[in-house]
Amino acid sequence: MAFFTTEGLIDRYRQRLPIGANTPAVTLREGSTPLIRLAKLAPSVALYAKYEGLNPTGSFKDRGMTMAVTKAAEDGAKAVICASTGNTSASAAAYAARAGMTAFVLIPEGKIARGKLAQAMMHGAKIIQIRGNFDDGMQLVKELAETLPVTIVNSINPYRLQGQKTAAFEIVEDLGRAPDYHCLPVGNAGNITAHWIGYTEAAGVQGTKACLHCHGDCSQMGIKLCDERPVMVGYQASGSAPFLRGEPVKSPDTVATAIRIGNPQSWDPALVVQEESGGWFDELSDDEILAAQKRLAAEEGVFCEPASAASVAGALRDIEAGKIKAGSTVVCTLTGHGLKDPDTAMAQTPDVGSLVDATREAVEDALSAHL
Ligand SMILES: *Cc1c(COP(=O)(O)O)cnc(C)c1O
Repeated sequence: MAFFTTEGLIDRYRQRLPIGANTPAVTLREGSTPLIRLAKLAPSVALYAKYEGLNPTGSFKDRGMTMAVTKAAEDGAKAVICASTGNTSASAAAYAARAGMTAFVLIPEGKIARGKLAQAMMHGAKIIQIRGNFDDGMQLVKELAETLPVTIVNSINPYRLQGQKTAAFEIVEDLGRAPDYHCLPVGNAGNITAHWIGYTEAAGVQGTKACLHCHGDCSQMGIKLCDERPVMVGYQASGSAPFLRGEPVKSPDTVATAIRIGNPQSWDPALVVQEESGGWFDELSDDEILAAQKRLAAEEGVFCEPASAASVAGALRDIEAGKIKAGSTVVCTLTGHGLKDPDTAMAQTPDVGSLVDATREAVEDALSAHL
């Protein structure tokens, strides 16, 4: 009797992934996340959230990590390494633990959300805090991996994007077609690139130049799933918006720590995605991002971390402005779970509520103000 009702994404999409038929998957049954209709926030369009926070470690990074660690295990690797703003380290730590490998994670001192750090610690990662930011860590990881016996599991590892492209397949299968627009928060721009690769394959279009690693020939072409591809829209935080500045940002800063990245690793592919899909990049203030995070939680019941809310904040603004057309189908990726960053959430809602005596009268009094 089958104990599990869902399979991990490698087994769900093995034929569409660069992996052998018999390679055992290192999996926590990631993927198959819900596509949730957001009916209240923007009634003029069909707005959906792809709630990636419901992956095993609470972010979309698990889609890439199951592939990267499976491949590393197949190659006999004993250790993986990454630089991280938090979620990559949490995911690498969990999948490495499962595969019996060591995970080395380089994180920027003091700039990682508490839930993510707790995960890396509990999964037994070897944590190295650096006096620097993500971009400094990424540079160091590249240098170290040249000589040390460690496999990089950042999104420059092409298997990461291959795993992450499966989110596009799921969306097409759920909607019965591709959306008109797909909106994502952008840090290193690996995920927006991965989605475009996925949509391209789903539409039966052979290869996108965005897949530089495989020279536009990465398609494991399966059955065609849809006829159309979406316009891809990427949103950055204003303090950390290299695509808007047209050059790397030296000291990126934003409350959305997951996208606090000044020198995106998938810069060139992201520009290809923009061009091929007819999409655009835009930026949002921290206040706009936090307001959208709060609205999603309070009005739709969906709790995501700040970086994730950039997709919805941006989409709502572009719907309002008519840039995203009325009547269209719009998917926003909510990249990570709200519980990842309890400190930022609590800071937004400092009033925990009233403190009263434990009597029926006192509690009823407190309720009556809202009834
Ligand atoms: C990693 C991450 C991002 C950014 O994704 P990129 O592929 O680096 O653009 C956005 N949101 C969350 C929650 C993340 O963990």
